[in-house]
Amino acid sequence: MKLNIFYNSLPTDNISVFCDGSCSPALKRSSAAFLIPALNVSRSWTLVPGSSILSAELSAIDSSLSFLYRAHEVYKSIFVFSDSKSAIQLLSSNGHSHPIAFNVLNTINLLKVRGISVSLVWIPSHVGILFNEQVDALARQEVISPSIQFENHLSFAEKILVVKHKLQSLFHADLYSFPSFHAKHRKKIGPASYLNARSRKISVALHRLRSGHNHLNSHRFKFDPQCQSPNCRNGCNAQENANHVLLICPFFDRERQRLRLLFTRLGIPFNLKNVLCLNDSIDKNSLLNIHYALSSFLIASKLINIV
Ligand SMILES: [Zn+2]
Repeated sequence: MKLNIFYNSLPTDNISVFCDGSCSPALKRSSAAFLIPALNVSRSWTLVPGSSILSAELSAIDSSLSFLYRAHEVYKSIFVFSDSKSAIQLLSSNGHSHPIAFNVLNTINLLKVRGISVSLVWIPSHVGILFNEQVDALARQEVISPSIQFENHLSFAEKILVVKHKLQSLFHADLYSFPSFHAKHRKKIGPASYLNARSRKISVALHRLRSGHNHLNSHRFKFDPQCQSPNCRNGCNAQENANHVLLICPFFDRERQRLRLLFTRLGIPFNLKNVLCLNDSIDKNSLLNIHYALSSFLIASKLINIV
């Protein structure tokens, strides 16, 4: 292994540090670790919530250099090994915008004043480099069972993300308090191409069908004295609601054919939730196809002028 040869060939007045970060989206936690084999020193810690993997990698480098700075040992140079290309690239270019990168660059300068140079060396991860594997295991173990909590500063981008996630969860909590399923079916906020059409008329019709607040007899009958019956205007002995006109009413059988065939082809149950694209577990492409077929059906059946 070339790196092992390189590492073993370093002069004795140099010191090597192995750094790594780890991130678990499931646990919403980031951790970092460093290992200095020559001193038999290792440390691991957990970063504040919202810290990215980049922050974890930078934190590992930052703490290892601060440790060596405080140790007051005299080395000619420090070799920092990290498998994070983005951390090294950020430090090599202009890392001043990131608070942890700023600290790293500051410590590098302080070490320089003492006559100690710092070299950042990228190493590929998981290729059997012993010390890198060890520091990787340390960081991963820290994610699973945190030992020390660091109070690092979040970068501007991380702060924005924290606020965004907070707003998302507040928005979702608000949506989930509504009784109708059309309001709370989505797991994400933001526009979805299968929920809106380019034509405003179609978009309005789709939202009316999803919410149940439409001009079909079943709903109109509740408040419009001119509406004589909640039943289907085509003579069916059934309430005229979204379920009836979209899925059942034989009056629209011919226009409905393409939509039905699509569901047979996709192998998805032909029910209201699926037809109105309110089932997030269906893949996005299929939802888009359903959306187009439904829009065509609304136009062909002229239901677009009724709902
Ligand atoms: Zn009918």
